[in-house]
Amino acid sequence: MRYISTRGGMAPATFSDILLGGLAPDGGLALPETYPTVTPAELAGWRGLSYPELAFAVLRPFIDDIPADDLRTLIHKTYTVAAFRTEAITPATPLIEGVWLLGLSNGPTLAFKDIALQLLGNLFEYALLKNSGQLNILGATSGDTGSSAEYAMRGKRGIRVFMLSPHQKMSRFQTAQMFSLQDPNIFNIAVRGVFDDCQDMVKAVSNDAEFKARYAIGTVNSINWARVAAQIVYYFKGWLAVSTHDDQEISFAVPSGNFGNICAGYIAKRMGLPIRRLILATNENNVLDEFFRTGIYRVRATDQVAQTSSPSMDISKASNFERFIFDAVGRDPAVVRELWRQVDTQGYFDLSDTPYFQTVRESGFITGSSTHQNRMATIRQIHAETGMIIDTHTADGVKVGLDYREQGVPLICLETALPVKFEDSIIEALGRSPERPAGYENIEDLPQRFEVMDVDVAAIKQYIATHAA
Ligand SMILES: *Cc1c(COP(=O)(O)O)cnc(C)c1O
Repeated sequence: MRYISTRGGMAPATFSDILLGGLAPDGGLALPETYPTVTPAELAGWRGLSYPELAFAVLRPFIDDIPADDLRTLIHKTYTVAAFRTEAITPATPLIEGVWLLGLSNGPTLAFKDIALQLLGNLFEYALLKNSGQLNILGATSGDTGSSAEYAMRGKRGIRVFMLSPHQKMSRFQTAQMFSLQDPNIFNIAVRGVFDDCQDMVKAVSNDAEFKARYAIGTVNSINWARVAAQIVYYFKGWLAVSTHDDQEISFAVPSGNFGNICAGYIAKRMGLPIRRLILATNENNVLDEFFRTGIYRVRATDQVAQTSSPSMDISKASNFERFIFDAVGRDPAVVRELWRQVDTQGYFDLSDTPYFQTVRESGFITGSSTHQNRMATIRQIHAETGMIIDTHTADGVKVGLDYREQGVPLICLETALPVKFEDSIIEALGRSPERPAGYENIEDLPQRFEVMDVDVAAIKQYIATHAA
């Protein structure tokens, strides 16, 4: 399998070539040259597989430059009951008649990003050990991504993590999750500022090419191809768990921000998984809903991004979206370059009057968005009907999923976080706190390990230079 860039400026590369990178050298995103396909007979043969066995079957065509036995070992080491608290890894639970919840949040940080990042940690360590490399991961977080990255990279040889977060501005639970890590390769840096200050510091450090090269600075952002690939697996797992016959079409509802999760669903569909509708749900930050309705992709200025009760979906632009557009314009990199030039210069592009929009309409996406009141009502409704508590992000997907479900077509709603991560919203909706999973009861009381720093680029560089791998 060879990988190319959506902007056309990268020589075809192997999986290992692109594994550690972020953007392709030409500013585009890596994608397989062609999507592998799965025949109905192969799919039927996967019914009895465990999650790690299925993951190997799905991922092997994408990762063909790591010896098969090594890849199998890495996958089996990742998807364990110890890490995900359930044999199924992503269990499908009946929610209401014809609707299932696919539990993606049973990993160490109780959010779906663990599924991809836990594998990424093992792949990174393997690749670095192979060529005696070192990696210093620098990131900014307001909660979710940072903790998933730290739990994925803790204790990994050759890797250090420097994670900037706004001092005293994360929830107590999220702060405790990150700061209670005692692993010597994890560095939590609480910045006296807001999230944007943290992100600006990361950008400033990354823009210093010499510093970046000297200290092997890397990231684990959501455009990393391996993350998308790892997420393809659970669409297969969900379909296998819910389908009752071999070519049965099933729809998926996906709470979406950066288009990473649902991009994996789109690729699963292209591979031949019988997916009927990909129901894309946004919150008030409806960049993607707007595009699929109008053909206009209009990014938002940072100060136009609403802060919502589903904060992990509060985005100004959808960083993985370029992968889908590349396909929608017939994989013509010149068109992609022109569209993103328009985004950079005028803030939007408009496909409505082009033949490409017809392709977009035929691609299986249906979109909608939710408001805070919708999410609260959905949490109450699901709790009243089933006794289950879902989080605000999952509620967004369930709300829009129920709006667009069809008679006779099973619907799988992706659960992207456990409610305990967004306790205040659950208290607002239900007047009570959700239960905490075992092991998380007193997390706020654990000793914490972090540094407090000013918004000072020179100081953070100095800190990295002193502590780098
Ligand atoms: C990251 C995240 C999302 C959005 O996923 P994308 O891949 O960015 O579309 C939704 N819900 C939760 C809880 C998340 O952490």
